[in-house]
Amino acid sequence: MTASVFRFAPSPNGPLHLGHALSALLNADMAAQSGGRMLVRIEDVDITRARPEHERAILDDLDWLGIVYERPVRRQSEHADDYAAALDRLKGLGLVYRSFLSRAEIAEAIRSEEVRSGEPWPRDPDCAPLYPSIDRDRLVQDVAACVAAGQPHAWRLDMAKAIHLAGYLSWQEFGDSLDGPGMMVPADPAAWGDVMLAGKFTPAAYHLAVVVDDALQGVTDVVRGHDLYFATAVHRLLQTLLGFPEPRYHHHRLIVDADGRKLSKSKKSEGLSALRAAGATVADIRRMVGLD
Ligand code: GLU
Repeated sequence: MTASVFRFAPSPNGPLHLGHALSALLNADMAAQSGGRMLVRIEDVDITRARPEHERAILDDLDWLGIVYERPVRRQSEHADDYAAALDRLKGLGLVYRSFLSRAEIAEAIRSEEVRSGEPWPRDPDCAPLYPSIDRDRLVQDVAACVAAGQPHAWRLDMAKAIHLAGYLSWQEFGDSLDGPGMMVPADPAAWGDVMLAGKFTPAAYHLAVVVDDALQGVTDVVRGHDLYFATAVHRLLQTLLGFPEPRYHHHRLIVDADGRKLSKSKKSEGLSALRAAGATVADIRRMVGLD
């Protein structure tokens, strides 16, 4: 039997907080218990938000937590070719289209449709409005004119076509121990609409980068926060379309503040480094996140 492969995949756009500590510790504990491998992946594909100082601080916090991981770490910003190859395969299947709309144009299209229909515009599981179909329905000659004019564009998945091709989708969700057969969860990627796969100025958007990396790194067990539970539907869809293997999933509970809100990277007081500076030990952190 080949070893299980776990990964902790932080985005270096802020310091780690207790929620990240839980994720990293769970991954490392599970890898150790199963005799598996532990990887760290720096999800810096969005170079407008990623900062090298955050990456340094994250790796320093992980070392302090005693998390042992394989080196070198994979940095998404160094693998644009891998994402382009996956996008090319989806282009070859006729499942993607260019999206030219600006944020303001998207907001305006949605607002006028809400006024026309008297109905609220549908939203995805993260509460963001679904992408309107204007770009998908653009005439071929209009697209060619926009391209010839050098208008920047993103790439989006034609969700209806993609689902039609992929058929029924589900994923295996495991509990804290990863024991037993897990639970089969039906995947509903349609709830996300025509997701972005590559941005106007970034080689890949989150959904595409994460499935390509998990496949290329041979990740067998995705252990991450419950905030990404519903996004798994899009990941299973892309894995199926791209012929990638299916990992097992465990979406762990989120750590919340005293008001029941998810912790924020922007609040320094909630950061691991602030707790370290205040004298917390690794055992304290484990207790605070409910491990041990
Ligand atoms: N980079 C994502 C985050 O920091 C996690 C992605 C994943 O685990 O799939 O929230």
